[in-house]
Amino acid sequence: MPGLEDLYREIILDHYRSPRNRGELPAPPARRVEGYNPLCGDEIVLYVDVDVEGEGEAGEARVADIKIGGQGCSISQSSASMMSAAVKGKTVEEARTLIRAFKAMMSIHEHRLDGEDGDGPDADGGATAPANGAKVPLGDLEALQGVVRFPVRIKCATLSWNTLQQGLDEAAPGS
Ligand code: ZN
Repeated sequence: MPGLEDLYREIILDHYRSPRNRGELPAPPARRVEGYNPLCGDEIVLYVDVDVEGEGEAGEARVADIKIGGQGCSISQSSASMMSAAVKGKTVEEARTLIRAFKAMMSIHEHRLDGEDGDGPDADGGATAPANGAKVPLGDLEALQGVVRFPVRIKCATLSWNTLQQGLDEAAPGS
């Protein structure tokens, strides 16, 4: 069975055995978001607490705390654990960058995310460099890259990230 060692790297098993940030947060004020992957039966219950530091437009939204509940396969649960460790304490903007980078790594980057200035005459300028977060260092998360060789498991790995994205959209709209 070639390649299974790529799927079950030691760091993945470590996060599965000892999940980080497991638990719940009072909601409200935290956001509670559920994710479900019917292909595998994975469930994620994500609690995210976003604090805004500073006043008005200068305020910076930050992932003050995050907790993970739910159950599922080792890929889904270890990805959620790694995700929680990676975004806790980060600004919402940094967390969104990580989400984009992770989803790009998982090769399901379906939408161009550089369209914010897309109304200009250069919108079809044929940029060669991907305008996503592909160069963001992902650290331990790169251990999950082997999952792309097992397409049926990609949704296991991305479930918690899509759930986080939904939580951030609800907790910090427009950020
Ligand atoms: Zn799964």
